[in-house]
Amino acid sequence: MIMNARVSIVPCSDYSDVKNEIKEALDLIGGLEKIIVPGSRVLLKPNVLAIRPPEDAVTTHPAVVSALCELVSEAGGIPVIGDGSGITRPDSTATAEALRVSGIEAVASACGVELINFETSGFVEVDVPGGRQFSRLYISKAILEADVIISLPKLKTHELTLYTGAVKNFFGTVPRKIRKQAHFLEDRELFGEALVDIYSFIKPHLAVMDGVVGMEGDGPAGGTPAYAGVVMASYDCVALDMVASELIGFDPMQVPTNKAALARGFGTRHPELVGTPLEEVKVSFKKPTGGIGALMPPFLRKALRRHLTVRPFINTSRCALCKACVLNCSANAIEKVDDVLKINNEKCIQCYCCRELCPNDAVEIKKSLLVKIVNRG
Ligand code: SF4
Ligand code: SF4
Repeated sequence: MIMNARVSIVPCSDYSDVKNEIKEALDLIGGLEKIIVPGSRVLLKPNVLAIRPPEDAVTTHPAVVSALCELVSEAGGIPVIGDGSGITRPDSTATAEALRVSGIEAVASACGVELINFETSGFVEVDVPGGRQFSRLYISKAILEADVIISLPKLKTHELTLYTGAVKNFFGTVPRKIRKQAHFLEDRELFGEALVDIYSFIKPHLAVMDGVVGMEGDGPAGGTPAYAGVVMASYDCVALDMVASELIGFDPMQVPTNKAALARGFGTRHPELVGTPLEEVKVSFKKPTGGIGALMPPFLRKALRRHLTVRPFINTSRCALCKACVLNCSANAIEKVDDVLKINNEKCIQCYCCRELCPNDAVEIKKSLLVKIVNRG
């Protein structure tokens, strides 16, 4: 990671000319050439949290993703786009649909760029040196295969972390079970630590913020679109988050990811600002009201973690014992018991890769009663 905490701010009134505005923001910090050598595989990680269209301001705008594809190609890199959506649907189709509805699938196809669905493309177990909540993690294979990693966050509030930006954006790189474990940690500070664990392993090279239309109130998905009219860039995700959270009227030191990251030596409390002065573009986003998880007592969160489950299981009457799932299960959770295959729920990370690749549709989903009730509402 380049230790350059310069953050650029460039006004951007809408998405019609966003490529030029992003180019200006990048040039102000030193340009893409500083991190891309010709032929490098450059992973663009937008925020594709949910199955929502661009105008809802939940996901990174496709015009921003398209601009980065073009700029990376012009710098000699090979762009690829990837993400795994949030827990919005109890099966393995959520990310595919979120990529389609967000307009990002169309961008990939128009730019001739590989599109990676983190939910189904596999995970690798890794050590997290110095991790506070996770000493080991499963991370999307796509992260390990990239030479350069670029965070493309959306400027939004977040009920649990107050603000979500370049660091929190990498939550989409871990499987759902780990996300669920992190969400149900005892408080928002611990959740911030978990997010910084993920960030500390990934060590992204650049962040470009979609701050044209963001989200205020009960983000990251239940708030209201809010205009901020900027794009921002930094080689340092934490520095960018410090400035972006201040830009929307929040105290950056109240944001758990900022606090946890600074305490571990990432970023800087006072990044160097270039481009338009912060005071000229500051807005005031409505704060989130708190979030159910944050307001819940710890014992209730623990009980929910146990009961809010969507587990895969193998329908043995359909299973042909081809073992494709066994060979591709990164958690080694599929075991032979009495001549049939069973999924060990303790080991399973709920990535649903087995469900995706089974040629006989033998991997089915069992929802807990609580999930069924929540989905009905
Ligand atoms: S991939 Fe499907 S058919 Fe093959 S062993 Fe696994 S569950 Fe059975
Ligand atoms: S059993 Fe299936 S869902 Fe569970 S970790 Fe293995 S591949 Fe993923």
